[in-house]
Amino acid sequence: EARKETYEFKTEVQQMLHLIINSLYSNRDIFLRELISNASDAIDKLRFKAQTDPELLGDDTEFNIEIITDPENRTIEIADNGIGMTRDEVMENIGTIAKSGTAAFLEALEQAQKQESLTPELIGQFGVGFYSAFIVAEKVTLITRAAGADKAVKWESAGDGAYTIEEAEKPSRGTRIILKLKAGEEGDKDYTQEWVIRNIVKQHSDFVSYPIRMEVEKDEPIPEAEQEKDQDGKPVGETTRKVSATDTLNSMKAIWMQSKNDVSEDEYKEFYKHLSHDWNDPLTHIHLKLEGITEYSALLYIPASAPFDLFFPERKHGIQLYCKRVFIMDDCKELVPEYLRFIKGVVDAPDLNLNVSREILQQDLLVRNIRKNLVKKVLDLLRGMSDEEYEKFYAEFGQVLKEGFHSDWENKDRLADLIQYKTTRSEDKFVRLKDYVARMKPGQEEIYYITGDNLSMLINSPHLEALKAKEYEVLLMTDPVDEWVVQSLTEYDGKTLKSAEKGDLRLDDAADDTKKEEYSGLFEFIRGQLEEKIKEVKPSSHLKDSVACLSGDAHDMSAYMEKLLKSSGG
Ligand code: ADP
Ligand code: MG
Repeated sequence: EARKETYEFKTEVQQMLHLIINSLYSNRDIFLRELISNASDAIDKLRFKAQTDPELLGDDTEFNIEIITDPENRTIEIADNGIGMTRDEVMENIGTIAKSGTAAFLEALEQAQKQESLTPELIGQFGVGFYSAFIVAEKVTLITRAAGADKAVKWESAGDGAYTIEEAEKPSRGTRIILKLKAGEEGDKDYTQEWVIRNIVKQHSDFVSYPIRMEVEKDEPIPEAEQEKDQDGKPVGETTRKVSATDTLNSMKAIWMQSKNDVSEDEYKEFYKHLSHDWNDPLTHIHLKLEGITEYSALLYIPASAPFDLFFPERKHGIQLYCKRVFIMDDCKELVPEYLRFIKGVVDAPDLNLNVSREILQQDLLVRNIRKNLVKKVLDLLRGMSDEEYEKFYAEFGQVLKEGFHSDWENKDRLADLIQYKTTRSEDKFVRLKDYVARMKPGQEEIYYITGDNLSMLINSPHLEALKAKEYEVLLMTDPVDEWVVQSLTEYDGKTLKSAEKGDLRLDDAADDTKKEEYSGLFEFIRGQLEEKIKEVKPSSHLKDSVACLSGDAHDMSAYMEKLLKSSGG
């Protein structure tokens, strides 16, 4: 006998539901996109699994997503023949929020709500997913049967804090999601109407790569023989009749395979939104087609703003891998390095071995070559950006890009051309290294920098006094990651990068020697007083107005690095 069990939603799910229902009312349409995208993901997963286990498919090999509406009962159903879920999987995926950074995200949302600045964009960053069904539905029923299983489960909830789960009947694998629509307000869209669904699918799900089908009413010409005619044989009354037929609502275009000239700017943007679930237009895109030994097509996007989880280690990569338009996998880390993890897009490699697994992929020569090539293209794209566009990019992703110094030695020079800093002479503007070098003072041989977490403190650092007096420009580095940058980037354009706070600046050797003698008594005294705490007392080449400062040896850690390590418990 089938038991029906009731469970409470986890607290964070309740919070999430509350926020979604209360803040996305004017963006209700997105529920359909989210449910269709889950259906499409479920088919992708099944296809991937079936490569090693073809029996999973049985004779149900025609993948599709179906939308069924019932105006009388006010229901809409989204059904797929994808991978389905077991009872455990339903409990795991639907009753909780498994995504990384949920807590941090909820906090950001609540903060925004308090300040009445909660925007759909903010929520869109997270991708509300399945729960968006509750924006339009007063009750959601999910019936699912996992591929290869013989039992189905039914999950049901009114979005009020609890859900039920029980055994169910379902003749074939896949998932059905049935929404009982809320009464709605005067003038609201009716999601049981064909044209409403048609428009939403066209706008938000056109690029889904499986057919999204719906039973529609169509006008069909009445065959001659069946038409009513008058005495002269002329037809009277209607010449067409309504019949119901199945229609595919989406174009399924693989725009990355098309030639650039055939894709409109709007299509590029819509495709980005489809891929990323971002609600905003991307900053820019790059559409590549490479022929020859390493053949591939790629359509890559740089988002306009950084996702909130950019620095969470578990976050997904944004690259989908295809082989001749056939989806292979999501989240393909092998195609772009970590430090370009903000890129979203599609790579299609026609010569790829279809039975790839993630483990093989890492060693695959073709994949490695594509990756190498993509990195180069992306860095070139960044370099070619207008100043205005690059400022936008850098504000969002500059910090991530700099991680490349740590991991991508091969492209160090390319990266060196892309980093930029405020300086002692830039008046709040960013300066690239090539501009720094171009305006070095006569006699200046090194590129000076100082690291720390606070710009105004750096600017006023006594270490810079002597350099300022000589009008030598100093790069002010305020990202923790800059410590890695200066460790890896020891020179640029033949000029050594030199810390302005460590070691000797060697600005004026003769003067240093006289000072050493002149003040030897004083130095002896200070050394005696601070014996335990310092290594040495000597005349400083850094100072101009100040009397003394603490300074590290040329090979010591910077003060900032020491502070960083301490705060991370190192
Ligand atoms: P996301 O799609 O970003 O993972 P969702 O909230 O949209 O987040 O979905 C949560 C999870 O529920 C999915 O990751 C998937 O495991 C499961 N799921 C949702 N819809 C389906 C479906 N139609 N078929 C199979 N699994 C599904
Ligand atoms: Mg989803």
